[in-house]
Amino acid sequence: MVLRELGVELPILPTTVIGSYPRPRWLRHIIRLYRAGRVDEKVLQESFDDAVYAVVREQEEAGVDIPSDGEMRRDEMVEYFAERIKGFKFYGPVRVWGNNFFNKPAVVSKLEYEKPIVVNEYLFLRKVSTRKVVKVTITGPYTITDWSYNEYYSSKEELAFELAKIINREIIELEKAGALFIQVDEPALTTHPDEMEWAVEAVNEVTRGVNIKLGLHVCYSNYELLSKYFDKLNFSQFALEFANRGFRDLEVLKRLGDKEIGFGVVDVHSRRIESVDEVVNALNKVFKYVDPERVYVNPDCGLKLLPREIARAKLEVMVRGVNIIREQLKRRGLEKIVMRG
Ligand SMILES: [Zn+2]
Repeated sequence: MVLRELGVELPILPTTVIGSYPRPRWLRHIIRLYRAGRVDEKVLQESFDDAVYAVVREQEEAGVDIPSDGEMRRDEMVEYFAERIKGFKFYGPVRVWGNNFFNKPAVVSKLEYEKPIVVNEYLFLRKVSTRKVVKVTITGPYTITDWSYNEYYSSKEELAFELAKIINREIIELEKAGALFIQVDEPALTTHPDEMEWAVEAVNEVTRGVNIKLGLHVCYSNYELLSKYFDKLNFSQFALEFANRGFRDLEVLKRLGDKEIGFGVVDVHSRRIESVDEVVNALNKVFKYVDPERVYVNPDCGLKLLPREIARAKLEVMVRGVNIIREQLKRRGLEKIVMRG
C-alpha cells in the first residue's frame, strides 16, 4: 500500500484521542431519567449535543489537535451499531466479565444498511470543533461479528463479510459528508488466531473505494500476531496501546513499513496520572523504530471508564510531553506534516 498525501497540514506529532471520553455526570443522570420515562427524546438529544460541546472544548483546551465527539451518544461499541443495522435482534444482557453485562445482539435475518449510522454524529462534531481535522470512530465488522450471535448466515466468515459491506457503505457516506479521518475499532481482531486470514480480508473490505485517512485501532491484543498483517491491512495508521504494556512491545513496529503509528502514551486502565517525563521518554523510545513524521500521539484506548478529571489530566500531560519534543524537533526543522491516507 502506497500512502498518498491528503493536502491537510498538521503539527508534527499530531495529538488525538482513540474515541470515547467520560460522559459528564449530568448526562448520565439525564440518561437515567430518560430510561425511566421522566424526560423525553428532545431533552435527551439536546443533552447529547451539549455534552459533545463540553467534551470537544475540553479536548481542545487540553491541546488535542484531532478531537472526537467522545462517543457521547453511544452506550457500547457493538450494540450501538447493531441497533442501527437491520437484521439484528436483542435478547437481553449477558454477563461478559465480572459484573459487567453486555447486551449481546443476534443476527436473525439478512443484514441491511437502512440509513447512515454516524454521519450526523460527524456533522455535529464538525460544527462544534475548531480543529481542521476531527476523528470519527466506527466499530469494525470482525468485532461486531465476534460479539454477536449468528442465527442467520451459514458461517461467521459470511457474516463478517456482510457486515464489512455495510460498514464500507457507512464510511463512504462519511467521506461524502466531508470526514477526513475515520478510525475503525477492532479489539477482537487477534482473539481467534485461526481466523486471522479471513478476518483481515473482511476488515480490508471496509476500505474499498475510500480515499480519506483510515486508521485501525486494536487493543487488548496480540501485537506480535497483528504486526504480521501490518502490510496486508489496508490502513495508513495503527493506533495501539503501549503505556499499559510498559512500552515493551515496540519491536513490532519494525514491521510498520511506511505506515504510521497512533502511539498510546497514557494508560486508560490506571487512574494514576502519568508524568510529562514519562510521555517524553516514551516518545524518545518510539523514535528508535519510527520516524517522528509517522507518529501520531494518543492515549492507549478510549478514556470513558476513567473519572472525567483524570481523563482530562491525562490528555494535558500527553500534550505537554509532545510539546517538549516538538521544541526539539523544531531545531531540526521538523514542524509540520501533511496528513496521509
Ligand atoms: Zn481500545
